[in-house]
Amino acid sequence: MSCPAQTIRIRTRCVETAWHGGCVSSVRTCSQAQIDAIFVALDGICAKIDSCDLRGLNDLKDCLRNTSENVVWKCGTLGDSIVAQTSGNEITLTPSAFGSTTSRFEAIVFHEMVHACGGTELDSEAFENHCYRGAGATAPTSDDFPKFRDDGGRWVNWNGSTGSVTTKDGQTLNVNTAAFVDPSPPSGGGGGWF
Ligand SMILES: [Zn+2]
Repeated sequence: MSCPAQTIRIRTRCVETAWHGGCVSSVRTCSQAQIDAIFVALDGICAKIDSCDLRGLNDLKDCLRNTSENVVWKCGTLGDSIVAQTSGNEITLTPSAFGSTTSRFEAIVFHEMVHACGGTELDSEAFENHCYRGAGATAPTSDDFPKFRDDGGRWVNWNGSTGSVTTKDGQTLNVNTAAFVDPSPPSGGGGGWF
């Protein structure tokens, strides 16, 4: 493993099929400029991991450091307003992600890498907002909160009333807690139907 990665894997697309059905010619889905931008983001992400003030989390950090093995990159479009998406080990980056500022693009790539390492939406949003606070992170949106409630976090716990986010061993993440307060919390416990 080396971080930053010396090589990355890019999804290809078949552009010429043989009579027997095999692919005889394929092209990368990412342009050289897009590949260059991914490498720049990975440089920044490795530096973030090395300087991270959160202790432990070694399984996550190791996974994030090993992108050459753990991620296949695909460049393409997605549904409305979706800038990036992870499916299994494949991260899709859209033209609008590449059109973001350098710091926002790095935060987007980092967020998706946390997913590729097995993180839930809460994990990705929490570490994005901790590591890129004021420097590329965006606050959770209304469609994130149902996922926070339903899926929880693999590496973090969340208090929806205070917006506080902590690692499983109790370290407090430096997120803007106001942005993590649940806008529509499930109705208070203890009730029942009569
Ligand atoms: Zn996400």
